[in-house]
This record gives sequence, C-alpha cells and structure tokens, in this order.
Amino acid sequence: MKAFVVEKSEDKTFSSSIQEVLVPQCGEDDVVIKATYSSLNYKDALSSIGNPGVTRKFPHVTGIDVAGVVHETTSDAFTVGEKVLVTGYDLGMDTDGGHAEFVKVPASWVARVPMGITDKDIMTFGTAGLTAALSINELINNGVKPEDGEVLVTGATGGVGSIAVSILSKIGFNVVAVSGKQTQIEYLKQIGATEVILRQAFNEDAKKPMMAERYAGVVDTVGGDILANALKYIKYDGVATCCGLTASHELNTNVFPFILRGVRLIGIDSVECKLDKKQAAWDKLADEWKVETLASITNEIALEDIKATYQLMLEGQSVGRYVVKI
Ligand code: NDP
Repeated sequence: MKAFVVEKSEDKTFSSSIQEVLVPQCGEDDVVIKATYSSLNYKDALSSIGNPGVTRKFPHVTGIDVAGVVHETTSDAFTVGEKVLVTGYDLGMDTDGGHAEFVKVPASWVARVPMGITDKDIMTFGTAGLTAALSINELINNGVKPEDGEVLVTGATGGVGSIAVSILSKIGFNVVAVSGKQTQIEYLKQIGATEVILRQAFNEDAKKPMMAERYAGVVDTVGGDILANALKYIKYDGVATCCGLTASHELNTNVFPFILRGVRLIGIDSVECKLDKKQAAWDKLADEWKVETLASITNEIALEDIKATYQLMLEGQSVGRYVVKI
C-alpha cells in the first residue's frame, strides 16, 4: 500500500516521501480501516520534522485523523464495511497514522461516522473541528450565551480557528477574529467573523494589566501573549478556552482577570478525551453544528502534496483545513 513515511537518518535528520509499505496485520481487538480521507493538523507537521513531543519511533506514517470503512476486524463492536473514523489517542504519534491506504488501530479508538455527513466533511472537521467543538461546548456549558456579548477567536485562519469562527457564527454569536494575516480578512468575514483584529495591533493595544471589558468568551488556539492579552478583555464571569501553542507554550499573565472578574480559563484536550465525548461532538458536528462554510474552509490535497503543506503550516502560512484524499 502507499503511505507518507517519515524517516530518521543516522545523523538525526528527518526526511519524508511516499513509499510502498506492507498492509498492517489485524491483531486482537483491532480494526483495520481502508482509508478514504485523512487531514493535516499542526501536530502532523511537528511529527514530520521529528518533534519528540509528538513522535519518537521512526520510520513513521503521519496523520492523527482518518476516516474510511472497516476492512477487517477482530472486535465484536464493529462489522466489515461500517463507516468509521479515528482522531487522536496515539494515532499518528507513535502509532502509524492516517496518511496511508490502510490503517490499523485498537477498536477502543474507533468512532462511527454519523449519518448525514460525508467522509470528506468529517475529515474537514477532523481533530481541528473536534477541538473547536469541545471548546465551544465548554463556553456554552459554562453559561456563555450569544446575548452576553462577542466571542474572540485567536489563530483564526488556522484549522481550529476557522471552524470555531464558522460554528460560533452559525449558532448566533458575534465573532471577533484575531489573525496575523492581513490578506485573509475577507476570508474570515466570509466564514462568519464580524470584525478582524490583526495580531500585532491586538498585542500592542493590550498594554495595561487589565483592559476594558469586551468579550463574553474567548476560544484561544495559540497561547503565549495573545492568550495573556485576551484574558484582560474578558467580561465579568466570562470564559476562555485554551487548546494550542502556535504562538508559544508559555503563558505569562496576572491574576486580575481571575480575582476581579471571575474569569475562568479552561483547558481543552481532544486527544485522550473519552470516546463517548468525542462521539457526541461528532454527532453535533454532523447535525446542528454542520457549517455551510465548510467548502470554503477546505483545501483537498493528495498524499503527494502533504510535504509542501507541512511547510506552510510550520511557517504559520496555512489557511483553513487540508483534507487528504487517500
Ligand atoms: P494551524 O497550523 O492550522 O493554525 C494555527 C494558526 O495559528 C495559524 O494559521 C495562524 O493563524 C496562527 N499562528 C501561527 N503562528 C503564530 C504565531 N507565531 N503567533 C500567533 N499566532 C500564530 O493549526 P491548528 O488550528 O490545527 O491548531 C492550532 C493549535 O492548537 C496548535 O498549537 C495545535 O497543536 C493545537 N491543537 C490542540 C489540540 C488539543 O486537543 N489541545 C487539538 C488540535 C490542535 P492567524 O495567522 O490567523 O493568526
């Protein structure tokens, strides 16, 4: 079968290419999926350059997301031909990932593709969509409503950001986007942002320890100074979620938003999150949160295009989601 393989050489440099490799053997309680679509995430790009926080075992097939049909299984929970998907857990980390024609995983990682959504659309969401959905769920479950005020989304042209903007706008929130890309302001407005603030201006404006209250909620995907500054604008009793680190893994902030405005900062993990929580989010994404803007967020690529797209992601130049047709 064909797969996108990353190799580590003796001098500890990394290279990647499309290779012919063996179809994985189905073990006890495994599912072998015949892949139809996968996607690209920032974490895949990190894996492709040998980031040890993501992947330590090489050669390695990248791809933390996959959708397809059950090709072979020894689990009672699934039948051959069923439409399934996997995101997260160890897929694409030290377990060979979704950028291959066949993918073997433990049955306990496998969710079902809900009715009413194609494999391509579910992979356009992929880990990014799941993470956006889990973030928005936390805002809503913690009491943030459209009438409470604007919601800020950071890293807005990225995979998680674009989907968060689209869903929040669809369900009635006024969305303000923070982006580093002057050229993508129209794109962000098309997918649902009412205002776009450029990243540099956003950081320069937030000089004081606290700023005037503005946002009822924040979906942060970048960490670092942007998240620290976003916290300063959150209204009394507001909520921020934090899922990513493209700006920085550091968070240098102060306690004022928490002790003077009761602001809550909630961490999001879509990787180890329980399968039933993932399945509930997929069901929502396939139904009431299925956004009409999905096509404008999607770039369809082939296995051969993965390498160049990783480069864009690592340079912070990617826009929207990249689905891989297998
Ligand atoms: P993308 O690469 O698609 O998007 C990241 C976006 O961040 C970019 O498009 C850019 O948007 C912005 N950005 C890039 N560089 C910088 C910088 N130096 N400073 C500030 N912003 C920057 O990634 P994803 O959307 O897939 O993922 C976003 C983050 O969330 C990643 O860190 C990823 O690892 C993490 N993640 C975490 C998950 C979890 O379960 N916790 C799951 C999925 C992702 P713009 O130009 O518009 O600002």
